Amino acid sequence: MHAQLLTAARRPLVAAELPAPHPGPEQLLIAVRACAVCRTDLHVVDGDLGDPKLPLIPGHEIIGTVVEKGEATERFAIGDRVGVPWLGWTCGICEYCRGGQENLCDRARFTGYQIDGGYAELTVADERYCFAIDPHYGDVEAAPLMCAGLIGYRTLRMAGDARLVGIYGFGAAAHIVAQVARHQGRRFFAFTRPGDVAAQDFARALGAEWAGDSTTASPEPLDVALIFAPVGALVPAALAATRKGGTVVCGGIHMSDIPSFPYRILWEERAVRSVANLTRRDAEEFLALAPDVGVRTETVAYPLAEANRALDDLRRGALQGAAVLVP
Ligand SMILES: [Zn+2]
Ligand SMILES: [Zn+2]
Repeated sequence: MHAQLLTAARRPLVAAELPAPHPGPEQLLIAVRACAVCRTDLHVVDGDLGDPKLPLIPGHEIIGTVVEKGEATERFAIGDRVGVPWLGWTCGICEYCRGGQENLCDRARFTGYQIDGGYAELTVADERYCFAIDPHYGDVEAAPLMCAGLIGYRTLRMAGDARLVGIYGFGAAAHIVAQVARHQGRRFFAFTRPGDVAAQDFARALGAEWAGDSTTASPEPLDVALIFAPVGALVPAALAATRKGGTVVCGGIHMSDIPSFPYRILWEERAVRSVANLTRRDAEEFLALAPDVGVRTETVAYPLAEANRALDDLRRGALQGAAVLVP
């Protein structure tokens, strides 16, 4: 099978011809139809996240068709369409797994990081972490739901009943979260890289009441700020924009260092928290909600062989929506 392979951090992916993987007892062999490119893939390729499996097939927003089943599988049939997310395996016995926080499992393994992912024609995945995909979505369109959607949704859930949401970084996750937030009757403002008029227009088209540079003051105090851009300096900026008792939620897996800031912008019961990974419950909830809400995804499709170009476009901030690789 063709695959795009990371052989060492900070090097371009290389095209490789590999033998087809064999499914273990609880795994499915999946013919990949689409795999979205997540900012986390960039963090792995760029070496921001340490110790990936090497060589590695990246990619954790996979849509594909079951072509072979391990002997202990029971949830899916040959020919079924499934989605494979970032959470690839959990131990089931640690205190986090037992306490409903499998996203924090001590021994969790992640797709496209410790487990080979979807930048390939075929992949294997533990069926317990695979999900059925609503037939209303095409393969390319569905792929960004698997991480931008799922982890974006978990991030939005941390907003509680906040009415006015500030979204910092308007990429793949934000454009999905914005649609869910609007459906829930919330208002939202979008804060982008200074001068990124295209992203600001994109946000307004998705219902942003206001969109502007992240360096400008918010027109109104925010109830909650969701940060999707990997820029630590946005944490104090968002705190300064947030009302008393409000929360700043960091939705990414990696951020540049957060600069020091005066205690007065945290005081008055403001909180800063992060979101890590996803649980299977997040996935089930969000994948049921998305077709009801009518969540649409904006995608730019690339041939699998052009994975490096897709990563570059994401790195440059040149995308409105999500890049998706198609084998
Ligand atoms: Zn565990
Ligand atoms: Zn991701």
